[in-house]
Amino acid sequence: MSKTGKPVIGVLALQGAVTPHKPHIEAAGGEFRAVKTAEEINVCDAYILPGGESTTMLKLIDTFGLWDTLAENFAKKPAWGICAGAILMAEKVTNPEQKSFALLPLTVERNGYGRQLESHHGEIDGYPVSFIRAPLFTNVGKNAQILAEHKGTPVWIKKDRYTASAFHPELTLDFPSPMHRAFIECLL
Ligand code: GLN
Repeated sequence: MSKTGKPVIGVLALQGAVTPHKPHIEAAGGEFRAVKTAEEINVCDAYILPGGESTTMLKLIDTFGLWDTLAENFAKKPAWGICAGAILMAEKVTNPEQKSFALLPLTVERNGYGRQLESHHGEIDGYPVSFIRAPLFTNVGKNAQILAEHKGTPVWIKKDRYTASAFHPELTLDFPSPMHRAFIECLL
């Protein structure tokens, strides 16, 4: 908790869309922290793995030796992966296969909606969101909860303290997004 008693939400700040989360986290009652060292990561109450490029994030996690620190914290605290972050949280990654923290019973196909030209907007629970070279959730374990679907496919799922979304809600300038509110309200 922060000094003011707010849950500290660490957004992994190695690459990708980090600061757009700040107003959403604050409006939902949390404290925003951009984190990139083990010391910064260890003191957070929950994590957002942001959208960006999952391969680049994996390389940087490796370069900075953060894998074990992240895995240990994910083992005991909530985490929400957005787009590239969802890819890092999935049990299995295809197109191509790559390493992941395997926190959710989820198979993702990278860039499954197509390349850059197929990036598009959508509406989830009445809130506009962006799909940017998004992963397709090709298999969701029966024990996971599907919170939203888009074009007939799950795009927002949850199991225990882990959440994944294929889309970016943080780029919409209406604070907080329903997804930030849902993630943070369990911590208040
Ligand atoms: N295409 C990216 C990847 O495979 C994800 C894109 C995003 O996070 N917006 O990692």
